[in-house]
Amino acid sequence: MSWPAANFLKQQIPLLDYLKGQGWKPARRSARGRLLGLCPLHADHQPSLLVDPNKNLFYCYGCGRGGDVIRFVELSHNMRFTEAIALLRRFGGLGSLLKDVANFYQVQLHRHYEAIEYLQQRGINQPQIIDELGIGYAPGRCLRHWLMTMGYSPVDLRQAGLVNAEGYDTYSHRIVFPLEGNLYGRSTGAASPHRFLPGSKGRLYAWEKVRNYSQIILVEGMFDLAVLWQAGFRNVTCSLGTHLNAQQFRQLCADDGCGGKSRRVYLALDCDDNGSGQRATQCLSQRLRAEGVATLCVELPDGHDPNSFFVSGGTAQEFQRLLERARL
Ligand SMILES: [Zn+2]
Repeated sequence: MSWPAANFLKQQIPLLDYLKGQGWKPARRSARGRLLGLCPLHADHQPSLLVDPNKNLFYCYGCGRGGDVIRFVELSHNMRFTEAIALLRRFGGLGSLLKDVANFYQVQLHRHYEAIEYLQQRGINQPQIIDELGIGYAPGRCLRHWLMTMGYSPVDLRQAGLVNAEGYDTYSHRIVFPLEGNLYGRSTGAASPHRFLPGSKGRLYAWEKVRNYSQIILVEGMFDLAVLWQAGFRNVTCSLGTHLNAQQFRQLCADDGCGGKSRRVYLALDCDDNGSGQRATQCLSQRLRAEGVATLCVELPDGHDPNSFFVSGGTAQEFQRLLERARL
């Protein structure tokens, strides 16, 4: 465990959050926002533990011990540094685990030429978009080992769905996009194309960045979103599949952001040869219009989705014309 990684963990889990999570209650405030309460490290009868939430440090006037959140865990559980780190990671929960996984996969992307080549085939070539979306690569057979050296237990990894019952990485040969509380993996080989961790696929992608636009383009895949962001259409969000979950549907209808009820939604879902994409688009647009949301359907050339449109040479100007021709 390196020092930058320990510092990162301390930022993620402030000392005061950890103490409150353990049932600690401050008895009174002291100068400069500092708090005073009973010390859990010794038999304390009058508040002698001083906590400074700004500096993220504690000091006890009774037992004379002090330090940061990692030190507190070491003392209170009588643990070594690495054990304390592992405990704090578990306390931090799945959120920090997924961040660690995403960071690891991002590093792997640049170590695997085949992954970069796959991204190029799918039209994604701007390094700043790859960084911004946090795109990574899961080579398989290396995540489990690495996370265990970081202090995660095999149980954590199985529960999160990152490792299967046989102990192998569940994501293997996949391009990985971190989502809010999940991870989308697109197979680069013959395996089933789409994979998520157990649980919800979450809200609309990057909604906080997009919701203030008065015109929003909805796509169903992360590769669609990536090429559109790359082409300068930053008002694009993604539902990760044709079917919107209840939360995503409410987001599109909500009267929030500058767009509010005057917002216009362009549906740019896949245009399959068998017409299922078109039917899904029609159905969604009816439901949105019933909620008072101005909705238009973008007609892509037969058999195309926004990703393949750009990959096969479509330009931003041509896509703009498709938006202008979009109809009810
Ligand atoms: Zn003490």
